[in-house]
Amino acid sequence: MELAPKVPIPEQAPVIEKVPEVPMTGLETLWLQIGGTLCNLACTHCFISCHPKNDTIPFMTLEQTRWRLEESKRLNVKDYYITGGEVFLNPEIFEILEAILEYGPCTILTNGLLLTPKRVERLVEIQNKAAHEMHFRVSLDSLDEKENDAIRGENCFRLALQGMANLSKAGFSTHLTMVRSWDDEEDAIWEKKALAFMKEHHVPEPQVKFLPGFLMGELARTERGYHENERVTEKCFENYPITNLQCSSSRMATSQGVYVCPILVEEPSAKMGDTLEETMRPFPLGHPACYTCRISGMTCKS
Ligand code: SF4
Ligand code: SF4
Repeated sequence: MELAPKVPIPEQAPVIEKVPEVPMTGLETLWLQIGGTLCNLACTHCFISCHPKNDTIPFMTLEQTRWRLEESKRLNVKDYYITGGEVFLNPEIFEILEAILEYGPCTILTNGLLLTPKRVERLVEIQNKAAHEMHFRVSLDSLDEKENDAIRGENCFRLALQGMANLSKAGFSTHLTMVRSWDDEEDAIWEKKALAFMKEHHVPEPQVKFLPGFLMGELARTERGYHENERVTEKCFENYPITNLQCSSSRMATSQGVYVCPILVEEPSAKMGDTLEETMRPFPLGHPACYTCRISGMTCKS
């Protein structure tokens, strides 16, 4: 009988890099995807593919929010962030805000377009009766109207500024959020420019937050996706504490369960459970977006 030819054994077996796991050190922050994946905009760089017809993840209801809040209290959560999509599309947004502010401070992420004087008046009423403070983060993508609207859509610049002005008139301060379209080294220059811009627009106590672009969702379609070598390995954390990552102390609750973080809500493998308690365990950083978090030192928090 003829023997099958031997398969040559490579001199060195390929090194399979172990995926590092981020520990859960205690749930400090709870994100709530109140707006689901529905948004009144369809920005060309949205990393969650949100748009006016994307109801893949529906709004969170008041009842679902209350349930999560009770759960979060048992786990000693200190603060809350709400996001979407666009949170002000949720028909129960005001009741939801009242409920959250019974438990802790709440940061509201919004594109600012729906912050009409009438809605802001209601927000003032809620704030005046609340035990905790609400904070706002309004997003723009450029300080130039044309450049911003090329990414976010016609009139978005003007309407977001109007929303910010309505907040300012009511005494709320605003964080301006921008996705970086410049090199990290230029952050200081952009911070100066953005703060001056907000002062010009009479924002009290203005602050800015820059976010990296995650090469997923719309951005992956309009720019590029991640290359194969863009992954975190254990080596990445030799000189960088893994607990600096926000996923070591926060989780993202949606109407369809609890995810590791706000960035990966469209990734089935990032769903960690149906209750917060179930998600109090380490998470393997196998997604390429984790690479962006690591190299940019990114946190979604203010
Ligand atoms: S980036 Fe924000 S405002 Fe733009 S589509 Fe996505 S969720 Fe909506
Ligand atoms: S994308 Fe960022 S926040 Fe989310 S699991 Fe990866 S490292 Fe953590």
